[in-house]
Amino acid sequence: MNDISPWDYVIVGAGPAAAAAAMAIRESDDGGRLLMLGAETELPYQRPPLSKGLWTNKVALDDLPLRSAADWEHLGVQTRLGDVVVKLDAAAKTLTSAAGKIYRYERLLLATGGRARQPELTNTELRERVHVLRSLSDYRRLRTAAQSVSRLLVVGGGFLGAEIAAALSQQEGLKVHYAFAGDAPLAHIFPPVLQKAVLSRYHQARVLLYPRHRLETLSWKEGHVRADFREHAPIAGDLLVYALGMEGQLELAQQAGLALDKGGIAVNAELRSSDAHIWAAGDVATYPDPVWQTPCRLEHWDNAEATGKAAGRAMAGREEPFRHQSLFFSDIFDLGFEAVGRCDSRRVLRVASPEEGKAVIYYGSDDRVEGVLLWNVWEKADAVRAGIAARRSLKDPYWTETLER
Ligand SMILES: Cc1cc2nc3c(=O)[nH]c(=O)nc-3n(C[C@H](O)[C@H](O)[C@H](O)COP(=O)(O)OP(=O)(O)OC[C@H]3O[C@@H](n4cnc5c(N)ncnc54)[C@H](O)[C@@H]3O)c2cc1C
Repeated sequence: MNDISPWDYVIVGAGPAAAAAAMAIRESDDGGRLLMLGAETELPYQRPPLSKGLWTNKVALDDLPLRSAADWEHLGVQTRLGDVVVKLDAAAKTLTSAAGKIYRYERLLLATGGRARQPELTNTELRERVHVLRSLSDYRRLRTAAQSVSRLLVVGGGFLGAEIAAALSQQEGLKVHYAFAGDAPLAHIFPPVLQKAVLSRYHQARVLLYPRHRLETLSWKEGHVRADFREHAPIAGDLLVYALGMEGQLELAQQAGLALDKGGIAVNAELRSSDAHIWAAGDVATYPDPVWQTPCRLEHWDNAEATGKAAGRAMAGREEPFRHQSLFFSDIFDLGFEAVGRCDSRRVLRVASPEEGKAVIYYGSDDRVEGVLLWNVWEKADAVRAGIAARRSLKDPYWTETLER
């Protein structure tokens, strides 16, 4: 059956950006008809524990949902889950789902996030043993598979590869081999001193490390996954976790002819797309950076929540420029960090170490700080944001002392 009368608000995607938008709409408009459509069968849930807390029992499956079904109902947010929206007709303002349902909207938010990049694999056995990690169902599949293997290979030097290699190495009976293209995991962010600290933590956990290994091909050889690398010997494993990034789910935006930029949907400072009735938020939105005004697309939790909230408010008529500088957090074993702004290991200005095991890393050029990474230093992110927005210099002792105290 189709919904003939238009919904005031439709949100496609049921991730954190969608959830934050729904909440923000409700704060401004408690009567508008609001519908959230999600391809997964789950209500909005936390993804970060899929690569860390769930493996170490710091987080339980029951802790994942952002809100319960009763909460959403109480808020007057209708949800339709487990059905992919496959068509967006922006002229008619309609959406069509894979199950053939048609929804009409007045205002639409695209919060479709991303999918894990997948290798192209034709061999069925190989496909069964190569895993990606984006959704709860990916986690469940990996968790089950990891119980019946002993030698596991992780490829990818980004945060996901780094986290899942650490998490898997803490599972009973699993030997983890971890390959990445750089000198260390997250070498594009970490200065040498942190790279060293992280490498030594993996060594301590008996993870076999393969730095400077760039994956070329995967194949199925003698009952094992075989990974071939440029200029290095192949590595075999019972199972492989392929953690080589994600790509935005842009199909609906493309169908609607929306302007795209930097792998996302181009939106203005109020998160509105090139179509006046469509907004975008989360991993899929490319918006003007609040500090530098250059197009910015981030794949971080805080960014999803903040852009979702701003888009929801804007959809409900409270348009204001998006000013939040997003933060990225990660945990590798017991090492945790938060990063704000542009943190590029080629542009490190200074590494300050207030005490053993803690560090504040400043990035930028000519003493002008454009990014700060807080290594095991907490509750300073707002001070970092304020300093970067005010274009503070590394020579500003008041600011740097605040961060390093
Ligand atoms: C394992 C893992 C660990 C992470 N850890 C961290 C971390 O420690 N720190 C951090 O800052 N970030 C982390 N992230 C990143 C963070 O989770 C993402 O940035 C965030 O989830 C993005 O939110 P989103 O709402 O934009 O998209 P998503 O969370 O991807 O949600 C989008 C939803 O839309 C649905 N959808 C897509 N297309 C359609 C369609 N056509 N019809 C219906 N539904 C659709 C998708 O199925 C999905 O459920 C992690 C991500 C993963 C996968």
